[in-house]
Amino acid sequence: MKQISMFLAGILMLAMLSATGQETYKEGQSKTNNPAFQTRDFYPVKTYPEKVKGKRPKNIILLIGDGMGADHVFAGITANGGKLFLDNFRHIGFSKTQSADKYITDSAAGGTALATGVRTYNGAISVDVNRKPLKTILEEAEAQKLATGLVSTSAITHATPASFIAHQGARSSYEAIAADFLKTDIDVFIGGGYKHFADREDGRNLIEELEKNGYQVLQDMHAITQVNSGKLAGLTAPEHNPRVAERGDNMLPQAVRTAVRILSNNKKGFFLMVEGSQIDWGGHAMNTIYVVEEMLDFDRAIGEALDFAARDRETLVIVTADHETGGMSVTGGNLYTGMVQGSFTSDDHTAVMVPVFAWGPGAEEFMGIMDNTDVHKKMKKLLLK
Ligand code: MG
Ligand code: ZN
Repeated sequence: MKQISMFLAGILMLAMLSATGQETYKEGQSKTNNPAFQTRDFYPVKTYPEKVKGKRPKNIILLIGDGMGADHVFAGITANGGKLFLDNFRHIGFSKTQSADKYITDSAAGGTALATGVRTYNGAISVDVNRKPLKTILEEAEAQKLATGLVSTSAITHATPASFIAHQGARSSYEAIAADFLKTDIDVFIGGGYKHFADREDGRNLIEELEKNGYQVLQDMHAITQVNSGKLAGLTAPEHNPRVAERGDNMLPQAVRTAVRILSNNKKGFFLMVEGSQIDWGGHAMNTIYVVEEMLDFDRAIGEALDFAARDRETLVIVTADHETGGMSVTGGNLYTGMVQGSFTSDDHTAVMVPVFAWGPGAEEFMGIMDNTDVHKKMKKLLLK
Protein backbone atom coordinates (compact mmCIF):
# COMPACT_ATOMS: atom_id res chain seq x y z
CA MET A 1 0.00 0.00 0.00
CA LYS A 2 2.71 2.39 1.00
CA GLN A 3 4.63 1.47 -2.13
CA ILE A 4 1.59 2.12 -4.33
CA SER A 5 0.92 5.55 -2.81
CA MET A 6 4.60 6.50 -3.22
CA PHE A 7 4.38 5.33 -6.81
CA LEU A 8 1.26 7.46 -7.38
CA ALA A 9 2.86 10.49 -5.74
CA GLY A 10 5.82 9.99 -8.06
CA ILE A 11 3.59 9.93 -11.11
CA LEU A 12 1.76 13.04 -9.92
CA MET A 13 5.04 14.90 -9.48
CA LEU A 14 6.21 13.87 -12.95
CA ALA A 15 2.91 15.01 -14.44
CA MET A 16 3.18 18.38 -12.68
CA LEU A 17 6.75 18.82 -13.79
CA SER A 18 5.95 18.07 -17.40
CA ALA A 19 2.91 20.34 -17.32
CA THR A 20 5.02 23.20 -15.98
CA GLY A 21 7.68 22.41 -18.53
CA GLN A 22 5.17 22.57 -21.32
CA GLU A 23 3.73 25.85 -20.08
CA THR A 24 7.15 27.45 -20.03
CA TYR A 25 7.83 26.09 -23.51
CA LYS A 26 4.56 27.52 -24.83
CA GLU A 27 5.24 30.89 -23.23
CA GLY A 28 8.65 30.95 -24.81
CA GLN A 29 7.17 30.09 -28.18
CA SER A 30 4.49 32.74 -28.20
CA LYS A 31 6.21 35.59 -26.41
CA THR A 32 9.92 35.21 -26.97
CA ASN A 33 10.78 33.06 -29.97
CA ASN A 34 7.67 33.68 -32.02
CA PRO A 35 6.81 37.39 -32.01
CA ALA A 36 3.83 38.72 -33.94
CA PHE A 37 4.21 39.99 -37.50
CA GLN A 38 3.92 43.76 -37.28
CA THR A 39 2.60 46.52 -39.49
CA ARG A 40 4.11 46.99 -42.90
CA ASP A 41 3.13 48.81 -46.07
CA PHE A 42 0.25 47.00 -47.72
CA TYR A 43 0.69 46.27 -51.41
CA PRO A 44 -2.19 46.98 -53.79
CA VAL A 45 -4.15 43.95 -54.96
CA LYS A 46 -5.82 44.02 -58.38
CA THR A 47 -9.10 42.35 -59.24
CA TYR A 48 -9.02 40.41 -62.49
CA PRO A 49 -12.21 39.58 -64.40
CA GLU A 50 -12.25 35.83 -65.11
CA LYS A 51 -13.22 36.12 -68.80
CA VAL A 52 -11.81 33.06 -70.51
CA LYS A 53 -11.55 31.85 -74.11
CA GLY A 54 -12.86 28.28 -74.47
CA LYS A 55 -13.18 25.44 -72.00
CA ARG A 56 -9.63 24.13 -72.02
CA PRO A 57 -6.44 26.04 -71.23
CA LYS A 58 -3.50 26.43 -73.58
CA ASN A 59 -1.18 27.07 -70.63
CA ILE A 60 -1.07 26.00 -66.99
CA ILE A 61 0.74 27.83 -64.20
CA LEU A 62 0.80 25.64 -61.08
CA LEU A 63 1.90 27.52 -57.95
CA ILE A 64 2.79 25.41 -54.92
CA GLY A 65 3.06 27.07 -51.53
CA ASP A 66 5.14 24.48 -49.71
CA GLY A 67 3.51 23.89 -46.31
CA MET A 68 0.69 26.38 -47.00
CA GLY A 69 -2.47 25.62 -45.07
CA ALA A 70 -5.58 27.78 -44.65
CA ASP A 71 -4.10 29.56 -41.61
CA HIS A 72 -0.96 30.54 -43.54
CA VAL A 73 -3.26 32.06 -46.17
CA PHE A 74 -5.33 33.92 -43.59
CA ALA A 75 -2.20 35.17 -41.84
CA GLY A 76 -1.23 36.64 -45.23
CA ILE A 77 -4.70 38.13 -45.75
CA THR A 78 -4.52 39.81 -42.36
CA ALA A 79 -0.96 41.04 -42.87
CA ASN A 80 -1.95 42.76 -46.12
CA GLY A 81 -4.91 44.56 -44.55
CA GLY A 82 -7.61 42.07 -45.53
CA LYS A 83 -6.85 41.27 -49.17
CA LEU A 84 -4.50 39.12 -51.25
CA PHE A 85 -4.23 38.34 -54.96
CA LEU A 86 -5.63 34.96 -53.87
CA ASP A 87 -8.96 36.73 -53.28
CA ASN A 88 -9.43 36.65 -57.08
CA PHE A 89 -10.02 32.90 -57.04
CA ARG A 90 -13.64 31.72 -57.15
CA HIS A 91 -13.10 27.99 -57.69
CA ILE A 92 -11.78 26.50 -54.48
CA GLY A 93 -11.36 22.99 -53.12
CA PHE A 94 -9.32 20.93 -50.68
CA SER A 95 -6.60 18.37 -51.35
CA LYS A 96 -5.82 15.35 -49.18
CA THR A 97 -2.08 14.97 -48.94
CA GLN A 98 -1.33 11.49 -47.50
CA SER A 99 1.55 9.59 -49.15
CA ALA A 100 1.73 5.88 -50.04
CA ASP A 101 3.49 4.92 -46.83
CA LYS A 102 2.73 7.72 -44.37
CA TYR A 103 -0.30 9.54 -42.99
CA ILE A 104 1.88 12.66 -43.04
CA THR A 105 3.68 13.28 -46.32
CA ASP A 106 6.99 14.96 -47.03
CA SER A 107 7.52 17.35 -49.91
CA ALA A 108 9.04 14.68 -52.18
CA ALA A 109 6.03 12.35 -52.07
CA GLY A 110 3.70 15.37 -52.04
CA GLY A 111 5.41 16.88 -55.09
CA THR A 112 5.42 13.52 -56.87
CA ALA A 113 1.66 13.14 -56.34
CA LEU A 114 1.02 16.57 -57.89
CA ALA A 115 3.55 16.01 -60.70
CA THR A 116 2.65 12.43 -61.66
CA GLY A 117 -0.75 11.55 -60.18
CA VAL A 118 0.80 8.64 -58.25
CA ARG A 119 1.22 8.30 -54.49
CA THR A 120 4.67 7.12 -53.47
CA TYR A 121 6.83 6.76 -50.37
CA ASN A 122 8.18 9.75 -48.44
CA GLY A 123 11.50 10.84 -49.92
CA ALA A 124 10.79 9.61 -53.47
CA ILE A 125 11.39 11.96 -56.40
CA SER A 126 8.94 10.87 -59.12
CA VAL A 127 9.59 7.16 -58.75
CA ASP A 128 6.91 4.75 -57.55
CA VAL A 129 7.04 2.49 -54.49
CA ASN A 130 9.16 0.04 -56.53
CA ARG A 131 11.54 2.85 -57.55
CA LYS A 132 10.29 2.79 -61.13
CA PRO A 133 10.37 6.26 -62.81
CA LEU A 134 7.00 7.98 -63.29
CA LYS A 135 6.36 10.42 -66.15
CA THR A 136 5.75 13.92 -64.85
CA ILE A 137 3.30 16.46 -66.28
CA LEU A 138 6.30 18.61 -67.22
CA GLU A 139 7.81 15.74 -69.24
CA GLU A 140 4.45 14.94 -70.85
CA ALA A 141 3.93 18.61 -71.78
CA GLU A 142 7.42 18.69 -73.26
CA ALA A 143 6.67 15.53 -75.31
CA GLN A 144 3.71 17.39 -76.82
CA LYS A 145 5.99 20.31 -77.78
CA LEU A 146 4.74 22.67 -75.10
CA ALA A 147 7.28 24.93 -73.41
CA THR A 148 8.11 24.06 -69.79
CA GLY A 149 9.50 25.83 -66.76
CA LEU A 150 10.27 25.59 -63.03
CA VAL A 151 10.72 28.46 -60.56
CA SER A 152 11.59 28.06 -56.87
CA THR A 153 12.89 30.04 -53.91
CA SER A 154 14.78 26.96 -52.65
CA ALA A 155 17.47 25.20 -54.64
CA ILE A 156 15.91 24.12 -57.96
CA THR A 157 17.16 20.62 -57.06
CA HIS A 158 15.13 20.57 -53.81
CA ALA A 159 12.23 18.09 -53.44
CA THR A 160 9.32 20.12 -54.80
CA PRO A 161 10.80 21.33 -58.12
CA ALA A 162 12.82 18.10 -58.44
CA SER A 163 9.59 16.04 -58.41
CA PHE A 164 8.57 17.67 -61.69
CA ILE A 165 11.74 16.85 -63.63
CA ALA A 166 13.91 14.21 -61.90
CA HIS A 167 13.59 10.53 -61.01
CA GLN A 168 15.53 9.52 -57.94
CA GLY A 169 14.93 7.12 -55.07
CA ALA A 170 16.06 9.70 -52.51
CA ARG A 171 15.40 13.44 -52.35
CA SER A 172 18.89 14.08 -50.97
CA SER A 173 20.56 12.98 -54.26
CA TYR A 174 20.96 16.62 -55.31
CA GLU A 175 23.74 16.06 -57.82
CA ALA A 176 21.87 13.21 -59.53
CA ILE A 177 18.75 15.43 -59.58
CA ALA A 178 20.77 18.24 -61.23
CA ALA A 179 22.01 15.77 -63.85
CA ASP A 180 18.39 14.77 -64.57
CA PHE A 181 17.72 18.36 -65.73
CA LEU A 182 20.11 17.65 -68.64
CA LYS A 183 18.01 14.67 -69.73
CA THR A 184 15.09 16.99 -70.50
CA ASP A 185 14.48 19.90 -72.81
CA ILE A 186 13.11 22.25 -70.11
CA ASP A 187 13.03 25.83 -71.41
CA VAL A 188 13.35 27.92 -68.24
CA PHE A 189 14.36 27.20 -64.68
CA ILE A 190 15.09 29.78 -62.01
CA GLY A 191 16.09 28.98 -58.43
CA GLY A 192 19.08 28.25 -56.24
CA GLY A 193 21.34 25.21 -56.46
CA TYR A 194 24.29 26.43 -58.58
CA LYS A 195 26.74 24.20 -56.72
CA HIS A 196 24.84 21.01 -57.58
CA PHE A 197 25.50 21.82 -61.24
CA ALA A 198 29.03 23.22 -60.94
CA ASP A 199 30.81 21.59 -58.01
CA ARG A 200 30.16 17.87 -58.31
CA GLU A 201 31.66 14.63 -57.07
CA ASP A 202 31.52 13.08 -60.55
CA GLY A 203 33.58 15.95 -61.96
CA ARG A 204 31.00 16.83 -64.62
CA ASN A 205 30.48 20.54 -65.19
CA LEU A 206 26.76 20.82 -65.86
CA ILE A 207 27.03 24.59 -66.34
CA GLU A 208 29.19 24.00 -69.45
CA GLU A 209 26.87 21.21 -70.57
CA LEU A 210 23.84 23.50 -70.22
CA GLU A 211 25.61 26.20 -72.25
CA LYS A 212 26.50 23.63 -74.92
CA ASN A 213 22.79 22.75 -75.06
CA GLY A 214 21.94 26.39 -75.75
CA TYR A 215 21.01 27.65 -72.29
CA GLN A 216 21.84 31.14 -71.11
CA VAL A 217 23.19 30.35 -67.64
CA LEU A 218 22.85 33.40 -65.38
CA GLN A 219 23.27 33.96 -61.66
CA ASP A 220 22.33 37.61 -61.33
CA MET A 221 18.61 38.23 -60.86
CA HIS A 222 18.71 41.54 -62.73
CA ALA A 223 20.34 39.86 -65.75
CA ILE A 224 17.76 37.07 -65.55
CA THR A 225 14.89 39.58 -65.77
CA GLN A 226 16.35 40.95 -69.04
CA VAL A 227 15.91 37.64 -70.90
CA ASN A 228 13.02 37.61 -73.38
CA SER A 229 13.50 34.38 -75.31
CA GLY A 230 15.57 31.25 -75.72
CA LYS A 231 16.55 28.80 -73.02
CA LEU A 232 17.35 30.09 -69.55
CA ALA A 233 18.99 28.48 -66.53
CA GLY A 234 18.85 31.03 -63.70
CA LEU A 235 20.83 29.75 -60.74
CA THR A 236 20.47 32.53 -58.20
CA ALA A 237 22.24 31.01 -55.17
CA PRO A 238 24.89 28.36 -54.44
CA GLU A 239 22.25 26.34 -52.60
CA HIS A 240 18.95 27.76 -51.30
CA ASN A 241 18.01 31.39 -51.84
CA PRO A 242 17.98 33.31 -48.56
CA ARG A 243 14.81 34.55 -46.88
CA VAL A 244 12.70 37.12 -48.70
CA ALA A 245 14.30 40.19 -47.11
CA GLU A 246 17.80 39.13 -48.19
CA ARG A 247 17.02 37.62 -51.57
CA GLY A 248 15.72 41.04 -52.54
CA ASP A 249 14.68 42.47 -55.87
CA ASN A 250 11.32 40.65 -55.55
CA MET A 251 13.08 37.50 -56.69
CA LEU A 252 10.05 35.20 -56.89
CA PRO A 253 7.52 37.59 -58.54
CA GLN A 254 10.20 38.73 -61.01
CA ALA A 255 11.22 35.15 -61.77
CA VAL A 256 7.57 34.30 -62.51
CA ARG A 257 7.19 37.32 -64.79
CA THR A 258 10.39 36.42 -66.65
CA ALA A 259 9.51 32.73 -67.01
CA VAL A 260 6.00 33.49 -68.30
CA ARG A 261 7.38 36.02 -70.83
CA ILE A 262 9.83 33.46 -72.23
CA LEU A 263 7.49 30.45 -72.17
CA SER A 264 4.59 32.32 -73.80
CA ASN A 265 6.68 32.59 -76.98
CA ASN A 266 5.65 28.99 -77.65
CA LYS A 267 2.46 29.09 -79.72
CA LYS A 268 1.45 25.57 -78.60
CA GLY A 269 1.33 26.58 -74.93
CA PHE A 270 3.31 25.96 -71.75
CA PHE A 271 3.44 24.32 -68.34
CA LEU A 272 5.10 26.26 -65.50
CA MET A 273 5.48 25.18 -61.86
CA VAL A 274 6.29 27.91 -59.33
CA GLU A 275 7.16 27.16 -55.73
CA GLY A 276 7.00 29.42 -52.69
CA SER A 277 9.40 27.06 -50.91
CA GLN A 278 10.00 28.80 -47.64
CA ILE A 279 6.45 29.08 -46.29
CA ASP A 280 7.29 25.53 -45.16
CA TRP A 281 10.52 26.61 -43.49
CA GLY A 282 8.68 29.31 -41.54
CA GLY A 283 6.35 26.57 -40.29
CA HIS A 284 9.22 24.28 -39.33
CA ALA A 285 10.81 27.21 -37.46
CA MET A 286 7.41 27.89 -35.78
CA ASN A 287 8.02 31.50 -36.75
CA THR A 288 5.02 33.67 -37.67
CA ILE A 289 7.08 36.48 -39.19
CA TYR A 290 8.90 34.03 -41.48
CA VAL A 291 5.62 32.42 -42.60
CA VAL A 292 3.93 35.75 -43.27
CA GLU A 293 6.84 37.27 -45.21
CA GLU A 294 7.07 34.20 -47.45
CA MET A 295 3.28 34.01 -47.82
CA LEU A 296 3.09 37.65 -49.02
CA ASP A 297 5.98 37.09 -51.45
CA PHE A 298 4.22 33.99 -52.80
CA ASP A 299 0.97 35.95 -53.17
CA ARG A 300 2.72 38.62 -55.23
CA ALA A 301 4.04 35.80 -57.45
CA ILE A 302 0.42 34.62 -57.80
CA GLY A 303 -0.40 38.21 -58.83
CA GLU A 304 2.17 37.99 -61.65
CA ALA A 305 0.57 34.74 -62.86
CA LEU A 306 -2.92 36.28 -62.77
CA ASP A 307 -1.73 39.43 -64.54
CA PHE A 308 -0.59 37.31 -67.49
CA ALA A 309 -3.60 34.96 -67.35
CA ALA A 310 -6.11 37.82 -67.37
CA ARG A 311 -4.54 39.26 -70.54
CA ASP A 312 -4.04 35.87 -72.19
CA ARG A 313 -7.45 34.35 -71.27
CA GLU A 314 -6.21 30.84 -72.16
CA THR A 315 -4.17 30.19 -69.02
CA LEU A 316 -5.31 28.12 -66.06
CA VAL A 317 -3.72 29.24 -62.78
CA ILE A 318 -3.77 26.71 -59.93
CA VAL A 319 -2.53 27.47 -56.41
CA THR A 320 -2.16 24.69 -53.87
CA ALA A 321 0.21 23.14 -51.33
CA ASP A 322 1.92 19.78 -50.92
CA HIS A 323 0.97 19.62 -47.20
CA GLU A 324 0.49 21.90 -44.19
CA THR A 325 3.49 22.73 -41.96
CA GLY A 326 3.47 23.74 -38.31
CA GLY A 327 -0.16 23.09 -37.42
CA MET A 328 -0.37 26.86 -37.67
CA SER A 329 -3.18 28.71 -36.00
CA VAL A 330 -3.87 32.43 -36.31
CA THR A 331 -4.46 33.38 -32.69
CA GLY A 332 -4.65 37.14 -33.05
CA GLY A 333 -4.45 39.95 -35.56
CA ASN A 334 -5.58 43.34 -36.74
CA LEU A 335 -6.92 43.91 -40.26
CA TYR A 336 -6.28 47.66 -40.01
CA THR A 337 -2.63 47.51 -38.97
CA GLY A 338 -1.72 44.14 -40.51
CA MET A 339 -0.50 42.69 -37.20
CA VAL A 340 -0.74 38.88 -37.04
CA GLN A 341 -0.11 36.53 -34.14
CA GLY A 342 0.41 32.86 -34.87
CA SER A 343 0.80 29.74 -32.83
CA PHE A 344 2.12 26.34 -33.88
CA THR A 345 1.29 22.84 -32.70
CA SER A 346 4.18 21.10 -34.49
CA ASP A 347 7.61 21.84 -35.93
CA ASP A 348 6.85 19.42 -38.75
CA HIS A 349 4.23 18.73 -41.42
CA THR A 350 0.67 17.87 -40.43
CA ALA A 351 -1.99 15.66 -42.01
CA VAL A 352 -4.72 18.23 -42.73
CA MET A 353 -6.18 18.99 -46.13
CA VAL A 354 -4.70 21.95 -47.97
CA PRO A 355 -6.57 24.48 -50.12
CA VAL A 356 -6.70 24.32 -53.93
CA PHE A 357 -7.49 27.55 -55.79
CA ALA A 358 -8.11 27.65 -59.54
CA TRP A 359 -8.64 30.54 -61.97
CA GLY A 360 -9.21 30.43 -65.73
CA PRO A 361 -10.38 27.86 -68.28
CA GLY A 362 -11.15 24.55 -66.51
CA ALA A 363 -11.04 26.10 -63.03
CA GLU A 364 -14.45 24.63 -62.11
CA GLU A 365 -12.81 21.15 -62.16
CA PHE A 366 -10.92 21.98 -58.97
CA MET A 367 -13.84 22.30 -56.55
CA GLY A 368 -14.72 20.05 -53.61
CA ILE A 369 -12.53 17.61 -51.73
CA MET A 370 -9.99 15.77 -53.89
CA ASP A 371 -6.83 13.71 -53.58
CA ASN A 372 -3.52 15.41 -54.32
CA THR A 373 -3.18 12.96 -57.23
CA ASP A 374 -6.43 14.31 -58.70
CA VAL A 375 -4.79 17.71 -59.18
CA HIS A 376 -2.40 16.03 -61.63
CA LYS A 377 -5.19 14.08 -63.36
CA LYS A 378 -7.29 17.20 -63.88
CA MET A 379 -4.32 19.23 -65.17
CA LYS A 380 -3.41 16.44 -67.58
CA LYS A 381 -6.97 16.05 -68.88
CA LEU A 382 -7.26 19.80 -69.47
CA LEU A 383 -3.81 20.58 -70.89
CA LEU A 384 -2.69 17.53 -72.84
CA LYS A 385 -4.15 15.63 -75.81
MG1 MG B 1 9.56 22.51 -51.29
ZN1 ZN C 1 8.78 20.72 -44.80
